[in-house]
Amino acid sequence: MREPNANEVLIRVHACGVCRTDLHIVDGELSDPKDHLIPGHEIVGIVEAVGSEVSRFHRGERVGVPWLGSTCGACEYCRSGRENLCDKARFTGYQIDGGYADYVTADVRYCFKLPASYSDIEAAPLLCAGLIGYRALKLAGSGRRLGLYGFGAAAHIAIQIARHRGQDVFAFTKPGDLAGQAFARSLGAVWAGASDVVPPEQLDAAILFAPVGSLVPTALAATSKGGAVVCAGIHMSDIPSFPYHLLWGERSIRSVANLTRSDGDEFFAIVEQTQVRTTVQPFALAAANEALAQLRQGKVEGAAVLVPSRD
Ligand SMILES: [Zn+2]
Ligand SMILES: [Zn+2]
Repeated sequence: MREPNANEVLIRVHACGVCRTDLHIVDGELSDPKDHLIPGHEIVGIVEAVGSEVSRFHRGERVGVPWLGSTCGACEYCRSGRENLCDKARFTGYQIDGGYADYVTADVRYCFKLPASYSDIEAAPLLCAGLIGYRALKLAGSGRRLGLYGFGAAAHIAIQIARHRGQDVFAFTKPGDLAGQAFARSLGAVWAGASDVVPPEQLDAAILFAPVGSLVPTALAATSKGGAVVCAGIHMSDIPSFPYHLLWGERSIRSVANLTRSDGDEFFAIVEQTQVRTTVQPFALAAANEALAQLRQGKVEGAAVLVPSRD
């Protein structure tokens, strides 16, 4: 525990979501993490103390801490509404100690107020899985037939928003993951199947939540002319070469990086309107490694969330 700096709050952690990015970080797949890092960037907690400049939150209020931890405010990206691309951005649970902890400090200018209708555990996955999924949805466009490759924490939230927007969702899981396909259908997927299966209709767009580069040509092949394939993960295995005709017809491939604070404001408003429900699997904070192992093995339905003990 440390005293909050001028723009920081000290937060008692009530819940912290477990994200695939945490796995990439602990596996050393992302460069230059903080030394002796505490992971975790989907933090829900109660403000215990505020820094001298803080007026947005008060002691005793609930607060959410996302992946975007700070930006420079001065680079060309920050000045053009693209702070997600800031050259000097720092990220929670990566360059800044995160929420696999009893207490955490965070720059309050990047924190969110959370909808009151969500419990702490239910709200945690909104802070990355929900937010990044939302940004990916925006970039995928509003075409009717949307494919989601990888049906974990992010997809199970994104499907609910997509359905609310009137889109038909086609869910793709690892071959053989019948439980994942049933989960997707229970949330309203019009079709669910293995990622190596050609869907019954061509897709208008596809979002890849699975960090599997070989799915890029697979998804392109399933996408109609003019459609986008959006890669939503921070890390992905190499994309194999593929024939140009898969990209031809004004198809596009793009990635989604991080979030802006205005994405968060939009997203939390939509979450309240659409009554998105999160499916969560709680783990004790002491079982963080078990939660990561289960995520790695694809055993988590919805999102894993760490909960510190209260004594
Ligand atoms: Zn994340
Ligand atoms: Zn910047």
